[in-house]
Amino acid sequence: MLYATRAEVDLGAIRSNIEGVREAVGPDRAVLVAVKADAYGHGAVAVSRMIQASGCADWLGVATVPEALELRAAGITLPILKLSHCFPGAEMEAAIAADVVTACPSRDNADALQAAAEQVGRPARVHLKVDTGMARIGVPAGDAAALAAYVESLSLVRLEGAFTHMPVADTASQDAFTEEQVASFVRVAAQVQDALGRRLEHVHAANSGGVLGHSSSWLTMVRPGIMAYGYYPDASTPRTITLRQAMRWVTRVSFVKQVAAGTTVGYGRTWSSDEDRWIATMPVGYADGYNRLLSNRGRVLVGGASYPIAGRVCMDQTMIDVGPASEPCPVSVGDEVVLLGRSGDEVITTDEMAELLGTITYEVTCDIARRVERTYR
Ligand code: PLP
Repeated sequence: MLYATRAEVDLGAIRSNIEGVREAVGPDRAVLVAVKADAYGHGAVAVSRMIQASGCADWLGVATVPEALELRAAGITLPILKLSHCFPGAEMEAAIAADVVTACPSRDNADALQAAAEQVGRPARVHLKVDTGMARIGVPAGDAAALAAYVESLSLVRLEGAFTHMPVADTASQDAFTEEQVASFVRVAAQVQDALGRRLEHVHAANSGGVLGHSSSWLTMVRPGIMAYGYYPDASTPRTITLRQAMRWVTRVSFVKQVAAGTTVGYGRTWSSDEDRWIATMPVGYADGYNRLLSNRGRVLVGGASYPIAGRVCMDQTMIDVGPASEPCPVSVGDEVVLLGRSGDEVITTDEMAELLGTITYEVTCDIARRVERTYR
């Protein structure tokens, strides 16, 4: 272990979260787990290998072609869906060569896929991407059947599925919107299949919010992401499946010192005390993804006790206030510091950190830098 700051990932927790999804949606539906963004910071190769070895899910979802290629190079043979479209040329050709299924949102995209498939010498596999309310990418619902018929006419583009994405499936107060969106997508999928004169193998819509709160959206396949890693996507999402947070983020105390009353700590001299205090330093900073907005606001755990951040989070180091110098220092160099997760009876949840930062758990774990080693159990 050459760097004290590391993220411990419990693959068993991820597996049990995915098994919870499988149990809820039943054996006849496929489960695609979103492992994009390095499995939301948990390590896409390790998570995908666990999924492949255990068989707990059927598909993997990525955002970029290099993400898919990294998985193929690591021996992952499971079907991979690139959840967004590809640019023509090298990106499409690499996706086709690696047997990565891509989203097809338009005629232009379909034409480019046909050209790329001719170049590579094998067919492009696609799922039609339909926009039913996200307004990100996708063919408008009313044009989906015509696009499907067009794709079907191309000799080297295989239309195997259709999907849509839901912007508020996790938000209970917007359930009416989601239910209408699902109903509209179901109608579109029927029109598409009528136009093709055959059934599509995969018709899918459900992200974690859909899995947890909208059984109408389960269709033939579900696409959970954040819940696989142990988080509910929103405070209002029904907790219909029990989830376990898979990540613990830790470092070690690197230095301890006593500061006299009035001493300032760190860049900008934003922290000081009117009494003598113990200050400890830890080797983690915003370059590790420990957000600078935690300066003077965040907290960490050492030996089951909570200590506040003192001063600004630096690029590579951060200081904590561990108590009055009138008492023995409660921490020593080398002690484990928990940034996220449990220490004794205390826990810092990723939800707590996300709330403090005014963001979502997705961003907290995705932001943990590559230099933070992931360890697995
Ligand atoms: N499907 C698509 C198209 C996505 O973009 C995402 C993630 O943003 C997911 C599924 C998984 O979403 P979540 O992590 O909210 O479950």
